[in-house]
Amino acid sequence: MSPLIPLRYLVDRWQQPRSRADEVRALRQRLLQQPSAHAVSETEAALARELLQLRLQLSQAIGAVESCKTCAIGHPPPHGHFAGGHCCGLTTEDAFNDDELAALRQAGTTPGRLRPPPAGSDHAGCAFRGALGCSLATADRPNLCLRYLCPDLQREVSARGDLDRIEAIGTRMEAAYLQFITVRRQRLDAEEDRALRSGPTQP
Ligand code: SF4
Repeated sequence: MSPLIPLRYLVDRWQQPRSRADEVRALRQRLLQQPSAHAVSETEAALARELLQLRLQLSQAIGAVESCKTCAIGHPPPHGHFAGGHCCGLTTEDAFNDDELAALRQAGTTPGRLRPPPAGSDHAGCAFRGALGCSLATADRPNLCLRYLCPDLQREVSARGDLDRIEAIGTRMEAAYLQFITVRRQRLDAEEDRALRSGPTQP
């Protein structure tokens, strides 16, 4: 484990609700359990890089929107705790599965970049959800967060005439993500095979 993770946890415990500090620490640890780009095949690393570029393209294509500021009004907590960000009311673990974390690590996300919202923000759903939205840079968010367009958001970007372009990027992202998880699964299977063949270690 990085020696900085316990230090960051102490700061988070001071500034954040306990539940958020715990979840962010667990996520940083899980991120470091994933191999970095130089420890996987070029195919896998290239797909992680492609996903990063697609996240950035999607974010730029969606741009500044109004739907996400009020979509959660009237919904029960945790989704409705803040006025906006209804889709961020899911658990941190559900937003960041191991495939997403592997793609993020290979694309350069570090534990230090997994920063929670400013002090004083309630924890309601994903640990990075705050009153003013997501505290992460686009590059460090799961692909799911960029790819998902709720009906309100679809209507808004459609009215602007951008829905087709956004959906085209989303389709490319979906294909790259499926390829990534397939290649990653093959690597994990091969690692398990090698471990089985090498047999139990002697005490
Ligand atoms: S990482 Fe950000 S965008 Fe994704 S669910 Fe969490 S708060 Fe929402």
